[in-house]
Amino acid sequence: MYCPFCNDTSSKVVESRDSQDGIRRRRECLRCGLRYTTYERVQTKALMVIKQDGRREVFNKDKLWTSLTKACAKRPLPIGSIDKVADEIEAQLSGLGRAEIPSNIIGELVMDRLRGLDRVAYIRFASVYRDFRDIESFREEVDALLEPRETSSTPTNQLSFLEDIDGFALKPKGRRRGRPKKVPTETA
Ligand SMILES: [Zn+2]
Repeated sequence: MYCPFCNDTSSKVVESRDSQDGIRRRRECLRCGLRYTTYERVQTKALMVIKQDGRREVFNKDKLWTSLTKACAKRPLPIGSIDKVADEIEAQLSGLGRAEIPSNIIGELVMDRLRGLDRVAYIRFASVYRDFRDIESFREEVDALLEPRETSSTPTNQLSFLEDIDGFALKPKGRRRGRPKKVPTETA
């Protein structure tokens, strides 16, 4: 066990508590004196992910959570939505009862969830995940975003999707609706 602050391996347990999924221990580093928490739980069979190139790696929920967080950055989602999606996918994967799962299956599961959650997050994830190999279906998705769903839809909203995708929509929304600032023209 390495101290997350100084990497030392010596620690003492200052508190130990049973929790739902294992034993939670509060440890104190003997070197720097800072405290950290460890969990001890029963090892269930690790799920292996088969990557595109054939290599295997252990399924890592944190990694899934990170890519979800990136895809959902600055999107107006309810608090906890990302955790929920990550939990659901993990449960779904273990529900499959398989020891190994191709990474593209996980990618599809994520895209299914994101599609229903937030279109922009979905497109962002798809653009990374599909790596533009599937350029045609990616284009279809973007086109679908741009297509007005109703006749009354405003083009500014549709455009803001595109800006989000390109990462240009970091400025507060709504400002762009205003008239462009007049550049003072010098009069002779
Ligand atoms: Zn330490």
